[in-house]
Amino acid sequence: MDLELDEAQKLIIENVRRFIREEIRPLEADLDPDAYSLHPEDRERLVGMVKDMGLYQMDIPTEYGGPGVDTVTRTLVAEELSQHNAGLYAAAYGVFGSGPPGQLYGGSDYLKENYLLPGIRGEKHGFFGLSEPSGGSDPARAIQTRGVRDGDEWVINGSKLWNSGADTADYGIVYVRTDPEKGRQGITAFVVDTDTPGFRVERLVQVLRAHYTTELSFTDMRVPHDHILGEEGGGFALASGQLADNRIPYSSACIGVAVYANELAVDWAKQRVTFGEPLANRQAIQWMLVDNEIDIRTSRWIALDAAAKAQRGEPFRFESSMAKLICTEGAGRVVDRCMQIFGGLGMAKELPLERWYRELRIRRVGEGPSEVQRIVMARDILNVRSGS
Ligand SMILES: Cc1cc2nc3c(=O)[nH]c(=O)nc-3n(C[C@H](O)[C@H](O)[C@H](O)COP(=O)(O)OP(=O)(O)OC[C@H]3O[C@@H](n4cnc5c(N)ncnc54)[C@H](O)[C@@H]3O)c2cc1C
Repeated sequence: MDLELDEAQKLIIENVRRFIREEIRPLEADLDPDAYSLHPEDRERLVGMVKDMGLYQMDIPTEYGGPGVDTVTRTLVAEELSQHNAGLYAAAYGVFGSGPPGQLYGGSDYLKENYLLPGIRGEKHGFFGLSEPSGGSDPARAIQTRGVRDGDEWVINGSKLWNSGADTADYGIVYVRTDPEKGRQGITAFVVDTDTPGFRVERLVQVLRAHYTTELSFTDMRVPHDHILGEEGGGFALASGQLADNRIPYSSACIGVAVYANELAVDWAKQRVTFGEPLANRQAIQWMLVDNEIDIRTSRWIALDAAAKAQRGEPFRFESSMAKLICTEGAGRVVDRCMQIFGGLGMAKELPLERWYRELRIRRVGEGPSEVQRIVMARDILNVRSGS
């Protein structure tokens, strides 16, 4: 893998790093340790700065008027963006913006006009509606939300669980069983406006991060046929593709948190004296720091391998699953070791470690649990449908 970055890539990464250190971290000194958002005036000011840097909505391709930053650079940028208190689930508090879901680029002209382009203009935001109370690891079998065609419309009944951001979204991509006979080929993706009659969203589910998730229900919800994204029956393939894409930045964000946690621990180990000597002189502590570095570097290479393959247009599902597994689990170990090095202070809300410790635990389940990532990889290695 040739990872010599060019000057333009280095400049982007350097600018984002400086921005997080000089603009985001100082603001957090005055925020609640579990804060998820900035004061509106700070947010507006920082969005303006990011736009001036030409780095707003980096994932939007140039043909749609965006910066079109390449996948490898965005992977390294994601590692920088998470290096602050809220960075894991609210990277840079969203001031770098993010484009609409990637699947919309392959949608019909109608869907592009009504959802993709408003998303690019920042006027509409979507949510991802896959998991259901019946299970999220194996959506091909678990999805029970049912769509029945009635003329030019579909009548949808069912429920979804764990949807992030559905209560503030304008629309969602909702995965529905449209043919109960066909298994994974019987699932169709619909673009559904959140103000559609029959759509109900509740903030029911509190989890161990500061932000909640939602529960959705659909009661005789009528959705026009032209709101199908992709092919009828092609929803599962779309969802799998979206998840494989997302797993790369999802992984890099974990590395960023590990990097920052490790920096804090290295500093502390040099300052903190016990039994007459700095912690840094103790082999037990040195080994923890070395193990941190090994977890960080291994994670980074695996995430970059996935990104480089995606960028070259090669299959990368195996690599993105491996990145998701290695980075989420590795970052969990790093933060855990750092907390140990800090002792009591590691448990305190004065430091971001306890927040990351909680939030990283979610990462081993969200976007597909570690076991599911192993199933995806095993299928490739053995060329069988294991886990079925
Ligand atoms: C904070 C948060 C945000 C989320 N946001 C969204 C969202 O925006 N949209 C969305 O659609 N979903 C979202 N999810 C749902 C998430 O994707 C699911 O929780 C996840 O896919 C697991 O599904 P499940 O919880 O139903 O667990 P289950 O499918 O019931 O599995 C339970 C556990 O069993 C194990 N397991 C499952 N299958 C196997 C197997 N074959 N072999 C061995 N072990 C196995 C795994 O450890 C798994 O964690 C979110 C979840 C959380 C916690």
